[in-house]
Amino acid sequence: MASVKVAVRVRPFNRREKDLESQCVVRMRGNEVVLDQSNSSLSTSTPRGAHQFQHAFTFDFAYWSHNTTVDEFATQSKVYQDLGTDVVENAFGGYNVCVFAYGQTGSGKTYTMMGSEEEDRGLIPRICKALFDKMNASTAQQSGSTFRTEVSYLEIYNERVKDLLQRDPSHSLRIREHPTTGPYVQNLSRHLVVNYNDILNLMEKGNSIRTTAQTNMNDTSSRSHAIFTITFVNAGFSEGIPHETVSKIHLVDLAGSERADSTGATGQRLKEGAHINKSLVTLGSVISALAEATPGKNRSSTKHIPYRDSVLTWLLKDSLGGNSKTIMIATISPAEVNASETLSTLRYANRAK
Ligand code: ADP
Ligand code: MG
Repeated sequence: MASVKVAVRVRPFNRREKDLESQCVVRMRGNEVVLDQSNSSLSTSTPRGAHQFQHAFTFDFAYWSHNTTVDEFATQSKVYQDLGTDVVENAFGGYNVCVFAYGQTGSGKTYTMMGSEEEDRGLIPRICKALFDKMNASTAQQSGSTFRTEVSYLEIYNERVKDLLQRDPSHSLRIREHPTTGPYVQNLSRHLVVNYNDILNLMEKGNSIRTTAQTNMNDTSSRSHAIFTITFVNAGFSEGIPHETVSKIHLVDLAGSERADSTGATGQRLKEGAHINKSLVTLGSVISALAEATPGKNRSSTKHIPYRDSVLTWLLKDSLGGNSKTIMIATISPAEVNASETLSTLRYANRAK
């Protein structure tokens, strides 16, 4: 049975929000996230606080960051403990796993997935480290058990797929469908890795190639979806019979969820915005259809799942649904200036649970 978990993470105030003396409009009560929205965050013509709207949503996990108003904040290590350890366990159990970071540009998607310096590393490096630690422990314990780990890293930009680990990433790759194993990217490079440092090097190599384009927003906007995939094959013997389990972990840093029109987009930017929206809308529909099929939630018997409507969901088809595990981390800003984007992120995440 498919399983979907949704987490929300607030980042600290950034320079721009501090300079604007923007108010904190996000609160958390346990796993409930409350957004206080006044009319002034939607239009400047109404006096602040004239009308207050409260939006409350409950998620599986809710994380504060330091520099916000409460003492308790979630470190990278805490987020890994809650979400990453599950990913590693499931991969060892032979399941496919997808982890998505969703949110407006500058809300903390890349920070959550990759992190920054050594001590502040995000989910991807921590998951990789734990995978190798577990493999080493397992091979030492059980003779005859072998592991083979491969990594690929791709980017979807304007509904086209690029390999982030090849010399010429400008070349776009075709998606094919295998009659039994499903959709795949033709000629996508796969890299055998034997330790944590191998993976880290590949991740950093791919990151430096990722397409970014400057928009009218202050931050450099990420207009592409990046999928880091770890394929993990465990071969061994159970009661004398050889067996092999293949698991895939997809770690996805999604493009900024802000609407194309909010960044003053025209021409090429507008086309990007339409493609980004299409993938994000389809992903939302796919995950919400899966969440409805999660045990303990309202069942909708054989709802059509629109995988084919975007490249992102089509490529991940074999890892969304079925026995796969899905985790969505919605990242948000605490500041009033971003309240309307924050509300749309919370609504999106709320649909996914
Ligand atoms: P995105 O990938 O969503 O565009 P980033 O991950 O690049 O956003 O985050 C924007 C900035 O905010 C970065 O400087 C990042 O280090 C910082 N940041 C984001 N989330 C956190 C957090 N939870 N704690 C501390 N700093 C954060
Ligand atoms: Mg980013």
